[in-house]
Amino acid sequence: MENFLPLLNKLHAQGSLEKEEWCALFSQYDNDALRRTAAEMAQQITLERFGNGIFVRGIIEFSNYCVNDCLYCGIRRSNKNAERYRLSENEILECCRAGFDYGFRTFVLQSGEDRFWSCGRLCPLVNRIKCSFPECAVTLSVGELTEKEYRQLYEAGADRYLLRHESASSEHFSMIHPVRQTLDSRMQCLRALKRVGFQTGCGFMVGTPGQTFEHLAEDMLFISEFRPHMVGIGPFIPHCETPFGNCSAGSVELTLLLLSLCRIMFPDLLLPATTALGTLLPGGRIEGILAGANVIMPNISPMEIRSKYSLYNNKNSADPGNAGVLHSDLQQQLAAVGRQIVIGRGDYGERLC
Ligand code: SAH
Repeated sequence: MENFLPLLNKLHAQGSLEKEEWCALFSQYDNDALRRTAAEMAQQITLERFGNGIFVRGIIEFSNYCVNDCLYCGIRRSNKNAERYRLSENEILECCRAGFDYGFRTFVLQSGEDRFWSCGRLCPLVNRIKCSFPECAVTLSVGELTEKEYRQLYEAGADRYLLRHESASSEHFSMIHPVRQTLDSRMQCLRALKRVGFQTGCGFMVGTPGQTFEHLAEDMLFISEFRPHMVGIGPFIPHCETPFGNCSAGSVELTLLLLSLCRIMFPDLLLPATTALGTLLPGGRIEGILAGANVIMPNISPMEIRSKYSLYNNKNSADPGNAGVLHSDLQQQLAAVGRQIVIGRGDYGERLC
């Protein structure tokens, strides 16, 4: 059953496939030969662009207050059992200081959609981080804002923005979000982020309830048309205090295949091996690297609050220690597969060979 090869070659040559072709690949995801071939192609492409270098970003989960109610997410507004916290500006700066000393040159600030941390408070924060660490990049991941607010954040010095589209099918998007959150609004935000000038990341979970291969094909069609700089893909993992608490987690194999296909489609892509992948499978982030990912985002949030940023069950199992310990563990795990951490911003378009 080698009928996947022409599709992989076409994807590499043209940067896109037809919907039926995507579905044909996905429907064979449990075929080891397909996953192995895709991973080998993806890895070769990654090595050509980035040599053995892996970009790292320190992620600071600075607030778990959220006005949204995404059905899959443990910090959704309706989860009254979530213990809410937010870090102060000084606490966030301390995380950056520690992260800088570990060697991080990109800080990712992620939170729920917290009205306290409005654009008016985020701008001075970003500005302070950029003044304190001029050689570092700042990535924001704080959800949907207006184009004007995105522009203000960009002008304050933020370099990148992560906003997963979650599902490019409006039918499926509405199955995993409340009615007031719409795919249309998500897409408008993503287009605004690109217009403003951010290195922009979209992405989705694999195996959210109701997701079909056709929905995944729509995700890939959207990505090939949108041409993001980054794509975050991780398996869905249930959280017990959400409506999807009893659903099963997404497939690690399908996630790995999707990572490989993204790399084959866009050789320059910044493609993280996500925490969710590392949570579902021990060593999963290294598997992600072997499938074509080139970014890892260790958690550099204060230890005390980490268990509260609980998007899904067991989230902290991938990052058990503090970032310093993790960093050296990570170095060893990467060295074992011939890779090494790059100390640098790791911007889109940065080629290491
Ligand atoms: N408020 C920000 C950050 C959201 S959390 C925003 O809206 O962009 C970051 C990502 O975690 C989400 O985009 C989602 O894709 C992922 N996530 C949330 N719940 C999850 C779950 N149960 N399993 C796996 N990933 C999850």
